[in-house]
Amino acid sequence: MKRNFLILIAGFAFATSCSTEKKQIEEQQEQQIPTEEANKKKEWSYSGETGPNHWAEFEKGNCGGKFQSPIDILETEADSTLQPLDIHYSTDTKIHEVVNNGHSIQYNFDGGDYITLGGEKYELKQFHFHELSEHTIKGVHFPMVIHLVHVSESGKYAVFAVMAVESEDNSPAFQFLDGYLPLAVDEKKPVNATFNMNDVIPEKEQYYAYTGSLTTPPCTEGVQWFIFKQPLNVSLKMINDLRALMPVNNYRNVQPLNGRVVKESL
Ligand SMILES: [Zn+2]
Repeated sequence: MKRNFLILIAGFAFATSCSTEKKQIEEQQEQQIPTEEANKKKEWSYSGETGPNHWAEFEKGNCGGKFQSPIDILETEADSTLQPLDIHYSTDTKIHEVVNNGHSIQYNFDGGDYITLGGEKYELKQFHFHELSEHTIKGVHFPMVIHLVHVSESGKYAVFAVMAVESEDNSPAFQFLDGYLPLAVDEKKPVNATFNMNDVIPEKEQYYAYTGSLTTPPCTEGVQWFIFKQPLNVSLKMINDLRALMPVNNYRNVQPLNGRVVKESL
């Protein structure tokens, strides 16, 4: 059953993983108010004084925490007890429109897609892109990643990362999503089409799993990460379209493991 409310993909406060660019007007306003007040209002970005290396200084939250994301996936522990992911995505999720708000791209869609983990239901709240990928595998970035953010009723997060490799043709998921790109800043295009959300999941569902954080402020910890081993194909056109639409390098650098173990499903 599909619920009828609209989910604004990147509009949530927690959503965020696509960047929020600091606006010049806000900068000017901040300069006119006392420093303490200014710090409170400082908006994070992907570069300079408000970039990832400074988030912990001015953002409330866990950005300075010990168990952060993304990480480099280097050494893994094969774990035969890891279960296949229990994904309940619709084959006909209604996507209403796509919006370019100047710092990210939002596809607005109906709720109802979910996964279960440990008997608990986590609803798909939003998906977004990073370019390059945030997680690296043996030190190497992929040209793009799609993050699917799920939230449980009790407020816990589980995020899927699906990497993309450059190819001549888009995979079906990107074929669909790219069909509405590019679009100019502040432009909104109606989609009004159904999308098979399962197309975003690679055919082989093996994954790496570990516990980390949101990769943008407030960098909340306790996030269960699942990074699919198999990438999807993405065309150079889509990479270029997204590059033109999103802030350059909208990814956070890899964080120390601090003793965490990355498990690998078989
Ligand atoms: Zn993200």
